[in-house]
Amino acid sequence: MVPVLRYLGGACGRARGGFPGSFSGVCGTASGRPWPLCWGVRRASSSSFDIVIVGGGIVGLASARALILRHPALSIGVLEKEKDLATHQTGHNSGVIHSGIYYKPESLKAKLCVQGADLIYEYCNKKGISYKQCGKLIVAVEQEEIPRLRALYERGLQNGVQGLRLIQQEDKKKKEPYCRGLMAIDCPYTGIVDYRQVALSFAQDFQEAGGSVLTNFEVKDIEMARESPPRSIDE
Ligand SMILES: Cc1cc2nc3c(=O)[nH]c(=O)nc-3n(C[C@H](O)[C@H](O)[C@H](O)COP(=O)(O)OP(=O)(O)OC[C@H]3O[C@@H](n4cnc5c(N)ncnc54)[C@H](O)[C@@H]3O)c2cc1C
Repeated sequence: MVPVLRYLGGACGRARGGFPGSFSGVCGTASGRPWPLCWGVRRASSSSFDIVIVGGGIVGLASARALILRHPALSIGVLEKEKDLATHQTGHNSGVIHSGIYYKPESLKAKLCVQGADLIYEYCNKKGISYKQCGKLIVAVEQEEIPRLRALYERGLQNGVQGLRLIQQEDKKKKEPYCRGLMAIDCPYTGIVDYRQVALSFAQDFQEAGGSVLTNFEVKDIEMARESPPRSIDE
């Protein structure tokens, strides 16, 4: 069963939560102005969404995109309090496509990071989004750091990070002449990308698939609902 979040009523109306024993929310615009529901989007006459996602950063937009591609019959809305999408962490991070070397083997983080790096390169290639697979060197500067560097290398191998090499000073110098250190892990799969651009592309995919993005729309309160939803897509 897919949970249903019904957004009822007019502007600043209540979002009735449809998860069994779940929540409902009170929404409004950041400015406090009334907001037309489903404004300029699919099902303009509707005043409810099956699912709303709060926050139009990369996590909210990626989730919204994945949900609508998997469940095209659902009406899904993303509510973002700012006037533009992805202006917080997503638009102000270091832009690194992490390879997954650091995480504990077998952990979900390790699996998702390695898989996620593959997916983001694939997505950027498909959409023509610029990135640079510049690689990364992780360097042991002192002798005592070498065992930890070797352990990290082993961890990266266990996680399935592509292309890892343990390199000595000479090879390191060839790659980065000004980098000081005794030994390094060469991690060629690491890259950089503008995550805001990726997030905006997710938003575009989501909208093209029929999703609604409402900006200047701050969720101000969320309440737990006592009842199950009156309908679900399985009915
Ligand atoms: C300094 C720094 C560097 C980083 N570097 C990297 C990196 O190199 N590589 C990497 O993969 N990750 C990096 N990260 C982590 C990455 O940036 C975050 O994991 C990711 O951006 C989180 O996305 P998000 O959508 O959860 O958050 P955000 O991008 O912050 O999005 C949350 C959104 O929710 C909205 N919102 C909040 N409250 C409400 C409300 N009540 N109603 C409506 N909307 C609301 C906000 O306006 C915002 O747009 C870095 C993080 C930091 C802080």
